[in-house]
Amino acid sequence: MIGLPMSVPAPGLPARVRIHEVGARDGLQNEKTAVPTEVKAEFVRRLAASGLTTIEATSFVHPKWVPQLADAEQLFPLLADVDAALPVLVPNERGLDRALALGATRIAVFGSATETFASRNLNRTVAESLAMFEPVVARAREGGAHVRGYLSMCFGDPWEGAVPVHQVVSVAKALLDLGCDELSLGDTIGVATPGHVQALLSALNEAGVTTDRIGVHFHDTYGQALSNTLAALQHGVTTVDASAGGLGGCPYAKSATGNLATEDLVWMLDGLGIETGVDLAALTATSVWMAEQLGRPSPSRTVRALSHKE
Ligand code: MG
Repeated sequence: MIGLPMSVPAPGLPARVRIHEVGARDGLQNEKTAVPTEVKAEFVRRLAASGLTTIEATSFVHPKWVPQLADAEQLFPLLADVDAALPVLVPNERGLDRALALGATRIAVFGSATETFASRNLNRTVAESLAMFEPVVARAREGGAHVRGYLSMCFGDPWEGAVPVHQVVSVAKALLDLGCDELSLGDTIGVATPGHVQALLSALNEAGVTTDRIGVHFHDTYGQALSNTLAALQHGVTTVDASAGGLGGCPYAKSATGNLATEDLVWMLDGLGIETGVDLAALTATSVWMAEQLGRPSPSRTVRALSHKE
């Protein structure tokens, strides 16, 4: 039984990648099954024990919008002993207040590169959503918190179709101008291809955004997530979002396949000899356990291959 790929480095790639694990937040918020708080806490503990150092824990969004994460107030204190950075998503100042009251030191805001998604997801124009984030980011930073700015629909939008690169650059710059420490470029419907990824990264660089402030968030809807990741690594990106076991379908694309699975990512990075600190066997065991909690198998091909019983 093969448990790890043979390590064969390729030129022009970073020595180390930081994985921003999103399974507990982006993953579980898009799962149909609501998971008990104690199971979520155990999930985060296991993810940390597998070597993940940044684990997005939950979202302080109104429970009406994301009932799967309505227990953020109960969950977050259970994670006090977890040895990892635990960012939380906050939609507005009210969410920020709730997160800061519990001692959160890393927050994330969720913006849109397109007007239609901003309107549907945030009930605001892009400009209005940026205005809403302004005091959130300012107050988070005043409190010493690190701020991540998610930017969704960077490569395509289900209502608007193609999204021009210059439009993404403009909103990305605006998020950084608000004070975000890093950006996560989201391919929310999974339509990106490698040349498009490199074109956007180049355009951001030309606009003064350095690659060290950029993370990538790919979805595997069309099977492109790892190709796009490799293209981003070749460009110098060292922060990659992924979801353990591929948790979380995509609510905006009619497909079961959403987030890039962390195990699939680690398999590729291990094979390239790129350091992540993640123990693939421990991570896979965690996702197999989580799949049992959810009552359905993991969509990750690496999880399936590694957990296949002869
Ligand atoms: Mg996602």
